[in-house]
Amino acid sequence: MHDVGVLALQGDVGEHEQALKSLGVTPVAVRTPSDLEAVEMIVVPGGESTAISLLLGSSGLREPLQQRLAAGMPAFGTCAGMILLANDIRGGRPDQVQLAAIDITVQRNAFGRQVQSFETDLEVDGLDHPFHAVFIRAPAVERVGPGVEVLATVTGPDDRPKPVLCRRGPILVAAFHPELSGDTRLHQMFLEGSLREASTTKP
Ligand code: GLN
Repeated sequence: MHDVGVLALQGDVGEHEQALKSLGVTPVAVRTPSDLEAVEMIVVPGGESTAISLLLGSSGLREPLQQRLAAGMPAFGTCAGMILLANDIRGGRPDQVQLAAIDITVQRNAFGRQVQSFETDLEVDGLDHPFHAVFIRAPAVERVGPGVEVLATVTGPDDRPKPVLCRRGPILVAAFHPELSGDTRLHQMFLEGSLREASTTKP
């Protein structure tokens, strides 16, 4: 059984649910620790990472989610979800939750005020044509740890390439909003990667 959860505390939950449904998956909205027990993998949507962070505390989900991720649960974090899954956050609130599922340093709101939101066609490793990516007050990855694959980059305000799609084992993170493009290839990549991990890590 591979039930797919969507963390449903704040942000663009419905759009992720729709993307999963169009791939034939019936997602489970995760709002409580018992919802979390029912799922095998989870999408952490975009929204506002500081708000989601507070709600992780008040819902009682923070510790069980950290434990599941530490035990290898697959997760797909987009925008604020990427920030939450990182183990090092720049520009966050001092009490902001770090789920620490992937060894990357993420800078919040990395693309500055004038270009807080933009769209671009991204070349993505593993996809045969570009992915139309929507960036909304997006973070960027400033450092990737050992074993983290960079699948796509964009040029940052400092003219350097910034990783915006990264993967390590069962964890996939995007600085943009794949659920807003009407293109489910990255959700598909997550589901396929998660199932592959599950089949290789089971005894
Ligand atoms: N800037 C937001 C944050 O820090 C993320 C924006 C988004 O998810 N679209 O949480």
